[in-house]
Amino acid sequence: MSMDTLSEVEDLQVEFFLDRAKVLAVDGVNFKLDKDDTLGLVGESGCGKTTVRKLLLRLEEPTEGKVIYEGENVYAMKQENLKKFRKKAQVVFQDPYGSLDTKWKIGTIIGEALAIHKIGTQRDRRERVTHLMELVGLNKACYNRHPHEFSGGQPQRIGITRALALDPEFIIADETVSALDVSIQAQVLNLLIDLQEKLGLTYLFISHDLSVVRYICKRVAVMYLGKLVEIADTEVLFSAPLHPYTSLLMEAIPLPDPSQRAEFSVVKGEVPSPINPPPACRFHPRCPEVMDVCREVEPELVQKQNGHHIACHLHN
Ligand code: SF4
Repeated sequence: MSMDTLSEVEDLQVEFFLDRAKVLAVDGVNFKLDKDDTLGLVGESGCGKTTVRKLLLRLEEPTEGKVIYEGENVYAMKQENLKKFRKKAQVVFQDPYGSLDTKWKIGTIIGEALAIHKIGTQRDRRERVTHLMELVGLNKACYNRHPHEFSGGQPQRIGITRALALDPEFIIADETVSALDVSIQAQVLNLLIDLQEKLGLTYLFISHDLSVVRYICKRVAVMYLGKLVEIADTEVLFSAPLHPYTSLLMEAIPLPDPSQRAEFSVVKGEVPSPINPPPACRFHPRCPEVMDVCREVEPELVQKQNGHHIACHLHN
């Protein structure tokens, strides 16, 4: 693990049984996140992105594999280090209020984690919350307002502020701007970029929207049916994708008008079930370039050049 590596995922696998059938939700996933990186994780619904998010944060245990965070396996962390890890790694969701009681005031919502961890006095906590509110462009006078009084991108700003409360270094943004209009999306994405520069944050950006991923991410990992099929620097991936699945996703980049957006509709055919997935290359039933070998031998994810990884017999 290099000095610059924050998190490293090694051979992650999640397997469970559904009606006696084996389901491989995540199968042999490997990637590395350097400090200050913004890695996009893309793929159709059901490809395993959410499971990877849970595994990275130790909200789910893998069947096999490790998540190394700053040199330590998060699944082997004892209470004290796990507590520290929980502060350092945070998540921002599409619905920033999630399971929260929306009768709470915004200041209470943002400061909840500080109160749970008994950090500072009540006055210290209030000062920290108002400082963070100003940092993300929320008027501190809104401290006593309630969630329903906010609209546009403000709820996302509240969600981001809440994630920043414990001074994290790693943030997973899970479809954070997906429900927003394009102009508001840009404001929130610019805020995330600005915060990364100011606070030295590292992001994993999970999204089904490739326009958004292209805007904010430095590198992109493409997932298909529980496996990573391509990883590359953003501009390389968007200008010269190698994997046929990635190429088809690129053709499905959403239109700017949200009402005309379709989620990867250009990729023909249903996403196969992770219960008994297609053998060898899982993409072969939908691949326009399929060859005999694709039905017989599973392609491995190998590095081509400059960190560009690809799992496809066309290139291996
Ligand atoms: Fe298509 Fe074969 Fe490559 Fe799979 S390995 S993506 S089926 S060309």
